[in-house]
Amino acid sequence: MNYPRVAVIGGGIAGAVACLRLVDSEAQLLWIAPIDNVHDKYGEHLSAAARPLLEQVNALGLLERPYHRQANVILSSWGSDKIAERHSIVHLEGPGTVINRRAFEQDLADEVSHRGVTRRDVMLKDARLNQGHWQLELEDGSEKVDYLIDASGRHAIIAKQYAPRFRSDQLVAVIAFLEQNAAADIVPTRATLIEAVADGWWYATLLADGRLVLNYYTDPDLLPTDISRETSVFNRLLRQTRYIDRWINEAEFELKSPPRLASAGTTWIAPAAGESWIAVGDAAASFDPLSSHGMTTALWTAITGADAAIAYLSGNREPSIGYTGKVAAGIQEFLNSRTTIYQQENRFKENTFWERRIK
Ligand SMILES: Cc1cc2nc3c(=O)[nH]c(=O)nc-3n(C[C@H](O)[C@H](O)[C@H](O)COP(=O)(O)OP(=O)(O)OC[C@H]3O[C@@H](n4cnc5c(N)ncnc54)[C@H](O)[C@@H]3O)c2cc1C
Repeated sequence: MNYPRVAVIGGGIAGAVACLRLVDSEAQLLWIAPIDNVHDKYGEHLSAAARPLLEQVNALGLLERPYHRQANVILSSWGSDKIAERHSIVHLEGPGTVINRRAFEQDLADEVSHRGVTRRDVMLKDARLNQGHWQLELEDGSEKVDYLIDASGRHAIIAKQYAPRFRSDQLVAVIAFLEQNAAADIVPTRATLIEAVADGWWYATLLADGRLVLNYYTDPDLLPTDISRETSVFNRLLRQTRYIDRWINEAEFELKSPPRLASAGTTWIAPAAGESWIAVGDAAASFDPLSSHGMTTALWTAITGADAAIAYLSGNREPSIGYTGKVAAGIQEFLNSRTTIYQQENRFKENTFWERRIK
């Protein structure tokens, strides 16, 4: 019996979870997932909505590992100079989990391999659809498959060639991981703090291992050009905050190297599936991290997309069509709620960053 061959492209959360969903199907899996060696992986606030999704792929237990912590306290200065506990801004479903992102992705990948799928540590260079089969060009050779799941993140390596890509903003993230001075005599608060400023907003959270993750979100044209070269430039921006700077100073956190930059804008592919392919995770839709739903979206699109792929291969295209509709509706819902959240900040409505988002 010739079982269909399915390639999953990408070793992030979406790729690993798509594999976990597919392992019990009859498809033969080819997991193209280059291993990256980034130690400080960003994107750590996993919303509570992720829990039932992880349960669906028997991976909920991974959140019990000691390097994650429950996200009980979220403080924000948003729309007011006062600080408030605001669950509505970042999570509506109750407490989430502050994860060690690198460890979580490694654990997911280990689960995939325990369930019998080999990780192919190479990049996909190109893929062409020819008479119902994909010809894949990999760094170490070529492969032929029947179906392709694009979980390559914002690269959307295949999806962007087969469907148009849309973008609603240019949001950029400045990311730093801070360590506490070894001699500091203070236990830092286990919290997440969000603070709006004139040109954007800040997010800081304490990881279970005691490091502090600091993100500053703004637009590229509002960012000092030498931000990723000079720690002093970042520190100057930090001083514009009322609470985050104080938290960092009081707990004696130190920025040892210049921060990194990453794209954080809202982009999507429409439709998110086509002939013998489907896009999942950020490859389908990537959101302004204010939503804190990027990983949850990666989980549900990976699960639903994997199910749609199996149905497609057995001749039923309905789930695939339903999937593209759900992704499109999710994007619209997100865009509406994003405007509402940005509108809650009135203090800076004359400033370019806010003006662009509250229209
Ligand atoms: C600054 C920032 C902070 C964020 N914070 C949060 C947060 O707190 N909470 C949250 O839920 N979300 C957050 N997000 C969003 C979240 O990180 C993403 O939604 C999530 O990573 C999407 O997972 P993914 O697997 O789809 O993509 P990715 O994590 O980007 O994984 C894509 C994978 O594809 C691989 N790949 C790319 N090209 C190829 C190729 N040619 N061949 C093979 N493999 C390839 C990459 O190596 C990578 O492993 C944040 C995003 C940013 C930018």
